[in-house]
Amino acid sequence: MANRQLPLLPADRPSGRPPVVLDQRLRGTTFVSLTPKRVLNPPSATGMDYWSLNPYVGCEFGCSYCYARYTHRYVVERAHDAGKLTDAEFADYRGAHGWEAFEKRIFVKEHVVGALEVDLKRVPIGECIVIGTATDPYQPAERRFRVTRAVLQRLTRCEGLSFGIITKSPLIARDCDLLIRLQERNELQVHVSLITADARLARKLEARSPVPAARLRALRKLVDAGVNAGLIVAPVLPGITDAVAHLDPLFAAAREAGAHFIHAGALRLYAAVRDRFLPLLGEHFPELVPRYQRAYARQAGAPREYTRALTRRIEKLRRKHGFKNQIGMMDRYRAGRVPVQGELELRGSLI
Ligand code: SF4
Repeated sequence: MANRQLPLLPADRPSGRPPVVLDQRLRGTTFVSLTPKRVLNPPSATGMDYWSLNPYVGCEFGCSYCYARYTHRYVVERAHDAGKLTDAEFADYRGAHGWEAFEKRIFVKEHVVGALEVDLKRVPIGECIVIGTATDPYQPAERRFRVTRAVLQRLTRCEGLSFGIITKSPLIARDCDLLIRLQERNELQVHVSLITADARLARKLEARSPVPAARLRALRKLVDAGVNAGLIVAPVLPGITDAVAHLDPLFAAAREAGAHFIHAGALRLYAAVRDRFLPLLGEHFPELVPRYQRAYARQAGAPREYTRALTRRIEKLRRKHGFKNQIGMMDRYRAGRVPVQGELELRGSLI
């Protein structure tokens, strides 16, 4: 582990204080300290109907379909524009392909509790705060830096709010004590994220995420501890994970693990995702490439026909496995964000 000075000043760092590389791993991941003045993103900034909080920028799990890569690019570009990065540093922190930096240059939001304290004053009673919308709050870095745990410790003093947490990591079970305290005076939904029960397929699509069985065991632990936890199946990948034969075992596994709810949503192919996902699609599912190119040609969201068909399929599976139709975070995207699209090609994979 290194602890040396780095000639980098992330945009949110107060000037005059030298930036620090917190850790460097042999496989090339670097962790850099970031001290933001604000940690809660308001709904007006994200287009979601909830506040969001991400303890890290970048994510080592490196899922090929991850839409959050733009957040990393934004932080790095802002630092460069402000003259806080040289061109060489900028190139390193963007990476050769842009998407690499998201997985290998992780910003750790240190000392977040002070900023959170201030931000919480802006959140009205009854509002929802979701942790982990743009990076995994329990990615490997959390084991060492414990930023998410510090955030939860502060949030346990809140009352009358609604919280969501999204993660692929079994590490969340470490914080069962805080989650139980959090839901005593607030609403809480913990979403364990899993798009497939097939470990080999998961490894193709998600470079370094925990295996499906480990996530399901974590879900069981959360539920057994009394935490309101369920599964989020997002994104559902057209032609890859959307068949009943694929989804049914996942719903069965969620039921077996005691999930209280299950939510699902189709892939959104934002510009920042295409560079990473489409080459991988070409490598493993070349026959699907033309269909994706047509379906996602004019917008990031899946075609409306496809989304509707998928919703019906999910509903049927929910009923079959005894899950109630609960409102979840996937349902809280603003309607205006879903594009209208006449491309029906993908519908054939659903019916
Ligand atoms: S775990 Fe979530 S944030 Fe991390 S790479 Fe995967 S989808 Fe992106």
